[in-house]
Amino acid sequence: MIPARDSEYPDPDLSRRRVLRQRVLRWYARHRRVLPWRDVDNPYSIMVSEFMLQQTQVSRVLDHLPRWLERFPDLPALARASRRDVLLAWSGMGYNRRALQLHAAAQSIVAEFGGVLPSDPALLQQLPGFGRYTAHAVACFGHRRRLPLVEVNIRRVLSRLTTDMQSETRLLPEAETWRLAELLLPPRAFYDWNQALMDLGATICTARAPKCDRCPLQAECPSAHRLVPDTIRRSPAGVTAYNLVREVPRRIYRGRVVEFLRGAEGHCTSASRLHRVLFDIDGEEERARLLDILATLERDGMVRVTRRKKPVEVRNCVAPLAELRVCLTE
Ligand code: SF4
Repeated sequence: MIPARDSEYPDPDLSRRRVLRQRVLRWYARHRRVLPWRDVDNPYSIMVSEFMLQQTQVSRVLDHLPRWLERFPDLPALARASRRDVLLAWSGMGYNRRALQLHAAAQSIVAEFGGVLPSDPALLQQLPGFGRYTAHAVACFGHRRRLPLVEVNIRRVLSRLTTDMQSETRLLPEAETWRLAELLLPPRAFYDWNQALMDLGATICTARAPKCDRCPLQAECPSAHRLVPDTIRRSPAGVTAYNLVREVPRRIYRGRVVEFLRGAEGHCTSASRLHRVLFDIDGEEERARLLDILATLERDGMVRVTRRKKPVEVRNCVAPLAELRVCLTE
C-alpha cells in the first residue's frame, strides 16, 4: 500500500498512469539511446556499468567498460585481482574509491554467494558500494526484477511531471520520489520504463532548459513550459567559502596522487616527489596537507606509506618527506 501524499496535486489515478506509461514507452521505442549495458543478460556487466556510471559521464563509461570486461570478464576474475590491478584498470574514471568498492563487492559475492550475484535488493544493499539505487538497478536490469528506480534524471522527471515545480532547480524530496516511482511503475514493461525515464531526463527533461516542446508528456505535465532558471545561487547548508577551498582540492589531490602512482616506476615514489608534483609552494601547511591526503588514501586502502620498509603513522610523521615511500596498494 502506497500512502497518498500531502500535495495540491493528487497522485495520478489509474487511467492517468496508463496514459503516462504509454506515452513514455512509445517515445522510448523511437528515441532510446543505444547503450551497451541495455538488454544485456549479464548481471555482472550491469553491476560494473552501474558503478562506473556513478558520477561519470556516459561517454567515458562507453570507452572504459569494454576494456574492463576484457580485463576482468566475470566476478571471480575481479575478486581474484589485486587492489593494485583494480586501481590501474580504473585509470581515467575518477573517484577511485568506487573501484575498490566494486572489488570488495565482488569478493563478498564470491565468498558469501558462491560467485552468483544476488537478485534480492535487500541482500545487494548490504554489499560494499551498493545504495538503494544501485541495488534496485542491478536487480531490475540484471535479473529483471520489477523494482522502482530513482536517480538524478528520474527524480527530476517525476518531480516535474507530478507537481508544478516552476523553477528548474526545484525537486520533490527523495523519499517522495521513490514513492511516486513505485506508484507509476508498470506491471510488465518496468525494465523499459526505468530506462526510458533515465533517457527522458538525460535528453529532454534536462536540468537546465528542458525541451518541453519535444517532450511526449507535455500535455500531461504541470511543469511544462513553466520552469524558469534559478538565478540565485545558494550555497548548500553548512558549505562555507572556507570549506570549499579546503575540501574540494583534497578530493582532486587524492585523485592526482593515485594517477601519479599509476604511471610511476614500480607504482611507487617518495613523498617529497609527490609534494613537488602537487604543490608549487614548499611550506609547512602544504606538508601537513600532503600527509593528511596520504593518511586518507592509506585508510581507504589505495596507497601504502613506509619509512625504511616499515609502516609509519602518516598524519603525525615528522620524518623528512624524502624518506617516506608511497606505493599504490598491492
Ligand atoms: S513537459 Fe517539460 S517539464 Fe514536463 S516532463 Fe516534459 S520536459 Fe520535463
